[in-house]
Amino acid sequence: MVKCQRLNVNCYIPESIIKTVDLEVTYNLGKSNEYKALHGETLDIYSGEYIILFGPSGCGKSTLLYAILGALPPSGGDIRIKGENPYTYTDMEMVRFQQSTIGIIYQSFNLIPSLSVLDNVALPMIFGGVAPAQREKRGMQLLKQFGVAHVANKFGSHLSGGQMQRVAVARSLINDPEILLADEPVGNLDSISAEQVMDMLAEVNEKGRKTIVLVTHDAKYLPYAHRVFYVRDGRLERDVPNPEKAQIKKSGGKGVVTEIERLARLFPYDTVDGLRVKSIMNYLSQDITFEQIERLEKLITRILQGRVDEKGFFDTLCEKFSGGGVGVSKAIARVYTDRMKQIIEQSLDVKRYRRKLELADVADEGAEFIERLRRNVLDAYPGQINRTQLERLEDAIGARLSGVLRKDGFEKRMEMPVEDGGMGIDGYWAHTLTRYLEKLIAQGIKQ
Ligand code: ADP
Ligand code: MG
Repeated sequence: MVKCQRLNVNCYIPESIIKTVDLEVTYNLGKSNEYKALHGETLDIYSGEYIILFGPSGCGKSTLLYAILGALPPSGGDIRIKGENPYTYTDMEMVRFQQSTIGIIYQSFNLIPSLSVLDNVALPMIFGGVAPAQREKRGMQLLKQFGVAHVANKFGSHLSGGQMQRVAVARSLINDPEILLADEPVGNLDSISAEQVMDMLAEVNEKGRKTIVLVTHDAKYLPYAHRVFYVRDGRLERDVPNPEKAQIKKSGGKGVVTEIERLARLFPYDTVDGLRVKSIMNYLSQDITFEQIERLEKLITRILQGRVDEKGFFDTLCEKFSGGGVGVSKAIARVYTDRMKQIIEQSLDVKRYRRKLELADVADEGAEFIERLRRNVLDAYPGQINRTQLERLEDAIGARLSGVLRKDGFEKRMEMPVEDGGMGIDGYWAHTLTRYLEKLIAQGIKQ
């Protein structure tokens, strides 16, 4: 708790548990095959958050994770875990850090095949000098929690993938670390086991209050996170809060705000009729790749704006990715389209949003049209005019277009002295240019 002076109340200001500033990681530094995998990441992760690092293969997700783990020394920038830089630790301190502060699970489980499940789980405690009875008790407790107590005495290699990963989760938590890292933890599992493991991790986050940083390239897991960090080409591209979850980090994400996020902010999620753009994304974006998601975001934005109709939406969904579409199957496209239709029909906000856009479009087009007319009129005028005259001319053209001024009113305003609010153009040219303008308007000039 921190005392807020100004308000004179106690308020909770969260400290980041993981912080990086301009973090760079370069593989093979100084060699001919030197490769910079992280280009200066700056990020904050708060205690209790569930963060997903999301991005295509090879973008640097695992690199960032191992840098946080203390296993990959940065080539630049700073990294702090609970305020400390793990790369300044002695060997012993690092061991303690990696056993007690931070746990990790991998895609490939990494169980030791010659040890029983229980020994695998309790192993990290052996190094901590914990007595066997206590180790086993704690190990069994975790195995029970993750539904794998019945395989405690089997060897790791006899388990199914889902069981192995649950054992690995138990092992990672044996020393009760505050932070759990997970590198594609369900990448090797069938979809049912994957969901079970993901649900367990959610529980570890919610009930166990662990901070989780999970790497995935699979969009269907994004709804689990408080915030999703989109990683691309070794850079943290954007940081997107999941509006479905109460945020631990209070202010919104930083970085590039996409149209879809703007929409999500325009239409809060807790209104009964609120447009759930992010929910739409979450709902629609199962089983598709990072690149497809970006296309889908654009497509959803277009249908919300009324720039594409139901058929266009469906067709673009089915269209091959290489042809500019999202590239999903017809069956999925059908489901997405139906769901989208339902959401649009239910949402007054979409209608309101569309109307606002239409008005804005009309205003923009109007402004462009006026400018075109003004340019044409002045091209026909041999004299010089100043900025005030120019603004008045544009005003008058706008008034003439909207019918506020009639033809002779326009001519009068052209002729009227500048001091009196007119344009100060002599009688001959006022008459000529007015007639010319009428002609241009009647023709609906295009250029
Ligand atoms: P991701 O986990 O997002 O798939 P990684 O962090 O594993 O990506 O890798 C990021 C980039 O760094 C990739 O281009 C990869 O080839 C490169 N890379 C990863 N590990 C090494 C390494 N040990 N040596 C050289 N390059 C590496
Ligand atoms: Mg990886």
